[in-house]
Amino acid sequence: MLHIGCHLSTSSGFLHMGEDALSINADTFAFFTRNPRGGRSKEADLQDVRALIDLMDNHHFAKLVAHAPYTMNLCSNKPETSSFAIESFAKDIQTMELLPGNYLNFHPGCHMNQGAETGISMIVEALNSLLFEGMQTTILLETMAGKGTEVGRSFEELAAIRAGIRQELQPYVGICLDTCHVFDSGYDIVNNLDGVLEEFDRIIGLEHLHAIHINDSKNPFASHKDRHEKIGKGSIGLAAFERIVTHPALRGLPFILETPQDDLSGWGKEIELLRSVEN
Ligand code: FE
Ligand code: FE
Ligand code: ZN
Repeated sequence: MLHIGCHLSTSSGFLHMGEDALSINADTFAFFTRNPRGGRSKEADLQDVRALIDLMDNHHFAKLVAHAPYTMNLCSNKPETSSFAIESFAKDIQTMELLPGNYLNFHPGCHMNQGAETGISMIVEALNSLLFEGMQTTILLETMAGKGTEVGRSFEELAAIRAGIRQELQPYVGICLDTCHVFDSGYDIVNNLDGVLEEFDRIIGLEHLHAIHINDSKNPFASHKDRHEKIGKGSIGLAAFERIVTHPALRGLPFILETPQDDLSGWGKEIELLRSVEN
């Protein structure tokens, strides 16, 4: 069965997100661990968290794919920005530990003209200080479109981050592949999905691929832009998504829609569409 869901608002709490997911036939979802533009997270209500865990158990949910804020930059050239990022990431990991066994995805960062190599070593250093043996959360590095100075624009950069993580902490670090981002960064998942996945396997290892962000792209191939489009309405197109959701190498992974929709029913329709091709 296809595990699929979308990004949901945390404004009404944890249980409410589970109910929203059920209402659109989703069996996973994403949410921001705090306001996407940064800022403080509110204390999680433990009873509310428990209620979500029960709902997920009862309805056989796949793992959740929480998202750290976009503004969190572990490799900023401004020390106050990178230290705030480390502090808030530590808190977000603690929040996720309340929901054991799920994923916390993040954008590796922007090196801000310090160069990718410096960016990668700052990210590695931060992760080596943040992760701990026995943690119940797996953090996911997201594949990026290569806009501006984004780190993570290539499989090589992501592999370099993983390789820098201390051996005993590496099991807690995986990858989330964003279809819009990889297409924008120049991986042709439309005409050569098998080739891209083989390349991923060779450079990173498919066993480290834990989740998919499933988005069409408003821009042409290799545009390095990162503008998401509704499924089938962009330059990736429905036929490619049919191959993606049915690809044996991706079977069983949670698929998260981050498409521009006005309300839940829009994602409900995309879920219905993608479930129909998978059956
Ligand atoms: Fe993202
Ligand atoms: Fe994404
Ligand atoms: Zn994006």
